[in-house]
Amino acid sequence: MRLSNSFIPTLKEIPNEAVVTSHRLMLRAGMIRMLSAGIYSFLPLGYRVIRKISEIIREEMNAIGGQEFHFPALNPKEIWEQTGRVEAFGDILFHIDNREYVLAPTHEEIVATTAKGQVQSYKDLPQIWYQIQTKYRNETRPRSGVIRGRQFLMKDAYTLDATEEGLNKGYMLHDKAYRNIFDRCNLNYFVVGASSGAMGGSGSEEFMVKSDAGEDTVAHCTKCEYAANLEVATSKIEAKARDKKSEEVKEISTPNVKSIDELCEFLKIDETQCAKSRVYIVDEKPVLVLMLGNDEVNETKLTKELGSAVRPAHTEELIEITGADAGSIGPINYKGRIIADNRLKDANNLYSGANKNDFHLGGIDLKRDVKNIEYFDLRLISSGEGCPNCDNKLDVFTAIELGHIFKLGTKYSEALGATFLDEEGNEKPIIMGSYGIGVERVMACYIEQHNDENGIIWDKNLAPFQVHLMGLNMKNDDVVKTSESIYEKLTADKIEVLFDDRTDAQAGYKFKEADLLGMPLQIIVGNKKLAEGKIELKIRSTGERMDVEIDNMFEKVKELVW
Ligand code: ATP
Ligand code: MG
Repeated sequence: MRLSNSFIPTLKEIPNEAVVTSHRLMLRAGMIRMLSAGIYSFLPLGYRVIRKISEIIREEMNAIGGQEFHFPALNPKEIWEQTGRVEAFGDILFHIDNREYVLAPTHEEIVATTAKGQVQSYKDLPQIWYQIQTKYRNETRPRSGVIRGRQFLMKDAYTLDATEEGLNKGYMLHDKAYRNIFDRCNLNYFVVGASSGAMGGSGSEEFMVKSDAGEDTVAHCTKCEYAANLEVATSKIEAKARDKKSEEVKEISTPNVKSIDELCEFLKIDETQCAKSRVYIVDEKPVLVLMLGNDEVNETKLTKELGSAVRPAHTEELIEITGADAGSIGPINYKGRIIADNRLKDANNLYSGANKNDFHLGGIDLKRDVKNIEYFDLRLISSGEGCPNCDNKLDVFTAIELGHIFKLGTKYSEALGATFLDEEGNEKPIIMGSYGIGVERVMACYIEQHNDENGIIWDKNLAPFQVHLMGLNMKNDDVVKTSESIYEKLTADKIEVLFDDRTDAQAGYKFKEADLLGMPLQIIVGNKKLAEGKIELKIRSTGERMDVEIDNMFEKVKELVW
């Protein structure tokens, strides 16, 4: 493709609206433009990358026996009502035409409806169906460019099986295909085994990349690949050791001491000698939650133990429940349920609030003084703590989900009547799995991981073009002749070449733009080197430059490009 007549509107300035690196670079490299919040046009250069990613996905999906479909995005709302997902998606679902239709945010419903009556017997199973198609979700906070769009391209696949073993097999095939896809896209990713959550199923995995643009916080171990959402992550951390001798409970006046840090400062003690109290309300009943020192309550873990209706008590409720304000609450003389984090198990000689403002108690022995106390893992872990599975340390960071594989079970087939006859002639719901990858997200995450201060760094699998050929002075006949002939020859050899054949652009501008667009190999044709019979090659990823004889050039280019 010739730059002289291409539409690649590059930007010198960093666009204000973009905060995330990939978003900035995609705008600056003329790959996308925003139409409105969360809605983007892909321009020719950007769309070439989308097609490359789609092709990798297609090849890997076909390799596991996937069959490519194209399901409608415009769906009768009725189908979505039958599975309860008009409600479940809520405002995320786009409604149109007097709300009789919806725009599909995913396709479980349509797959089950398509299978209904067509898949009749266990002999018709298993099936792997997939498509690469636009999805619509009215995301409340579209941001980070195409990472969270309101219209986006998803590869969604569905397995249809007669047995659980079949489902497990299909799931494992997808696990392998996903690893191949993300490896071929040269992404540094990790896999989080998530709990099945709201979709209702028996197993799922999320493929994620570390990114400041991420909205999920995860804990990860680079040594053993332990990875978990912070909401459920555990770590290896010492519990408070029980002292040989328990002291007597004693009241201490602690005027204006509210936080654990202030208490430690005031009494010259360590935070691991303190039990912090938090009061939560469950079904209108208070529960006192004790944590060691400055440990924070993980509310997801708390919800798991206490139920979904749990909420922190309001300031006014605290006085009523405990007789004291937030900084002076403790387990002694507290009437009601008391639970504590495992790190406090049977701990003694602790300091905690006295349930009386400006007083604390010392010498508390949870085993002796707090009857019916229950212990759970309630702690929010943090970076640098020990991995629960090996001797390494955990890293905690934000991450983006690239893809998701999920054992659905029979939720959708049951709701929509997608059944088959088993070997004994019994009618059973088809067992389904669902598997998604965000295509634009793959592109954005690749850019997040492969860039420098000058621009994007593509490698050959995703690059819009393999070669960026520059004629530096296109008014010079030799430069024109040589660069035109290189362009023709490489193109004839099926190497994708972006040819900067513009006559009016300065060399410095061409170099800058080539680095911004980031093709793996640059070929620079300039009159000075040409006079010596030479051409310059530059490898974008390393910045390495080399002069080669014109005659040897094609061999060298092929060697570098493949
Ligand atoms: P997220 O938690 O990021 O909203 P999700 O759990 O809603 O993702 P799925 O419903 O599992 O995502 O969709 C499958 C894949 O589609 C995701 O892994 C992601 O790569 C992509 N995806 C989801 N929502 C969007 C979006 N708004 N814009 C771009 N890609 C998306
Ligand atoms: Mg979502």
